[in-house]
Amino acid sequence: MADRYLHFTGTAPGRFLTRRLGLPQPAPLRRWSLETPRLEGPLLHLTAGADTEAVAGLAEVLAGAGLPVVGRADRPGAVVLDATGVTTAAGLGDVHAALHPVVRSLAPGGRVVVLGTVPSPDDHHQAAAQQALEGFVRSLGKEIGRGSTVQLVRLPDVRVPGVPASDVRLPGGGATAQGAASTLRFLLSPRSAYVSGQVIELTDATPEPVTDPAAPLAGRTALVTGAARGIGAAVASVLARDGARVIALDVPGVREELERTAARLGATPLPLDITAPDAADRIAAAAPDGLGVLVHNAGITRDRRLANMPAERWTSVVDVNLDSVLRTTDELLKAGTIRRGGRIVATASIAGIAGNNGQTNYAASKAGIIGLVRSLGPRAAADHGVTVNAVAPGFIETKMTAAVPFFIREAGRRMNSLAQGGLPVDVAEAVAWFAQPDSTAVNGQVLRVCGQSLLGA
Ligand code: NAD
Repeated sequence: MADRYLHFTGTAPGRFLTRRLGLPQPAPLRRWSLETPRLEGPLLHLTAGADTEAVAGLAEVLAGAGLPVVGRADRPGAVVLDATGVTTAAGLGDVHAALHPVVRSLAPGGRVVVLGTVPSPDDHHQAAAQQALEGFVRSLGKEIGRGSTVQLVRLPDVRVPGVPASDVRLPGGGATAQGAASTLRFLLSPRSAYVSGQVIELTDATPEPVTDPAAPLAGRTALVTGAARGIGAAVASVLARDGARVIALDVPGVREELERTAARLGATPLPLDITAPDAADRIAAAAPDGLGVLVHNAGITRDRRLANMPAERWTSVVDVNLDSVLRTTDELLKAGTIRRGGRIVATASIAGIAGNNGQTNYAASKAGIIGLVRSLGPRAAADHGVTVNAVAPGFIETKMTAAVPFFIREAGRRMNSLAQGGLPVDVAEAVAWFAQPDSTAVNGQVLRVCGQSLLGA
């Protein structure tokens, strides 16, 4: 559904009027396209702490992010601040000193990425300083404006466990950037336009190589559930763009729409209700060479307050959104249909984080997805060489949100740092980031694609 307000504020009279009235000023977001594959302006690489050496491997990783890397710039398109060496409260002053002079000069639609490490259970000074970065990033995301975004990426700490950071003085606080390439490529590009205020924690897993950067998923089969329309169709389209062979699954009731979508993308349609008892077997039969990517996107809402909710509404939502995801994931992993190096991506929601009036069933099912991902991720990596992550969309412009009453819809759209709804492609780009071969270190993560929604923030 078109966002007329965003269009209106893009005109001179609209800008004038909405400024005078103190109304939100959403900036049109610059998304990835063949014509605009990169941010405007160079990548400014800063380090907090004058005596801190860079994180191991960071220079190579930044060089691969697709922007010229500079130490000074009048108008950077992105800023990466290496704050991994900040281990004391006094050291936080360096974060201010590094970003205070440049934040105003960032190009519109720019990116700030702060690199930190995991707060240590053994060193409360390091833990305080590194946790402080989270509050910093979330606040800067709220004030930066002009379509710019701010994230914190926690790099894995490769110090000897139990040794306080202050005792070792390793370069970059002992962190390594070896698994961070796909994450920084995503965050430092127009593909992450609707992602802001997020904290991403990477593991020390060694990334698989990407043989063809133009088609990183070439040779892999991706199955997307709920792919006839909305977010699922966008996911199928972006994975196909990245070179995957796509199987598009949706209920037999929307077969025609599914076939149209699949034909447009060169995908194979699979009409199947994901709650069917034999769903996993039928998926395995449709992918005889196995799956490289499995995207659980199918989802439904059946809203009612708990006091008015019949059991059928509860059961159907939990069955589609959570139980079928658990069942098919277990069966496909056990059968070896999801190949080593495979990626499972599930779909949560900010409703599963913040809760929502009238959505006890939906929010329970989506919070369940978060539990699944956090628990299974490390074990799936150890036992099957597979990562498990989730996207948690905020307000995305689809048929689902078009059905929401006007005033609630308008509030949902504006109550985020970017003051607008996201598009299905924004969620799809995040799924594609999880699916990259070199995203091995991204595991057990839940990424909100919500423009830094105020809900559950
Ligand atoms: P949508 O209703 O437009 O599309 C959902 C698709 O899933 C439909 O094509 C539907 O036929 C399919 N589906 C439903 N039940 C199925 C089943 N049993 N088996 C197979 N397919 C089934 O919804 P959307 O807005 O594109 O949402 C996609 C996902 O994103 C859902 O999981 C939803 O909960 C989640 N989400 C959406 C938003 C949003 O703002 N749109 C926000 C948060 C989360």
